[in-house]
Amino acid sequence: ILSVKNVSKTYQSGSRKLTVLDQINFDIQAGESIAIVGPSGSGKTTLLGLCAGLDSATEGSVVLQGNAFEKLNEDQRAAVRNQYVGFIFQNFQLLPTLTALENVMVPLELKRRKDAKEKAKTLLEKVGLGDRMTHYPTQLSGGEQQRVSIARAFANEPKILFADEPTGNLDTETGDMIEDLIFDLNKEQGTTLVLVTHDPELAKRTNRIIRIKGGKIQEDKHG
Ligand code: ATP
Repeated sequence: ILSVKNVSKTYQSGSRKLTVLDQINFDIQAGESIAIVGPSGSGKTTLLGLCAGLDSATEGSVVLQGNAFEKLNEDQRAAVRNQYVGFIFQNFQLLPTLTALENVMVPLELKRRKDAKEKAKTLLEKVGLGDRMTHYPTQLSGGEQQRVSIARAFANEPKILFADEPTGNLDTETGDMIEDLIFDLNKEQGTTLVLVTHDPELAKRTNRIIRIKGGKIQEDKHG
């Protein structure tokens, strides 16, 4: 479903160049569940963003379901994302002027689903936010915002779900609930799962661990 070939990413800050990813290669088959692990600052979030077509590689190729992101413009990349990708961001990225319900409805309305409102309600109930639908992001706790972002990521029934520290900001009980939801999606609907985590217990639940360090893949281990 995803192929990453000779991918490098360099950030330019002033006159300094920082190579965060250096010639990365891997393929992901549909249905896999993968944890990307590694030290802080090793480029995990950057890699996830490149895989999801949110950002462009400096060099190399990222192909998702036959679509080579480097050959597409931003509108075309957005169309591929809407069709295939769900993304759970570390900092949620909810739209501040929309309620929880409206945030979850966004991807459904992009797909012109007539049942957008009903579907969004069901998803919010599933993540335990049935009584918070009309709240705005600023009226929700961090954990609640995270759950809204998870409901939004599930909304368009993605073929591949990317999650950056999905349980990092949650208490143990809520974190466990979210983990179960994510892994259920993988097991029951075959959604490919790629998550970045510092939590070894969470990484152990996946069937493959990719460890990056110093811009390189240090280990790619199938469980
Ligand atoms: P953490 O585990 O702490 O979240 P990470 O492994 O996800 O870290 P990244 O967020 O991918 O790491 O960042 C990798 C490096 O790239 C860091 O040194 C960071 O400062 C740098 N970096 C990230 N985004 C940018 C940017 N837009 N411009 C310049 N440098 C950046």
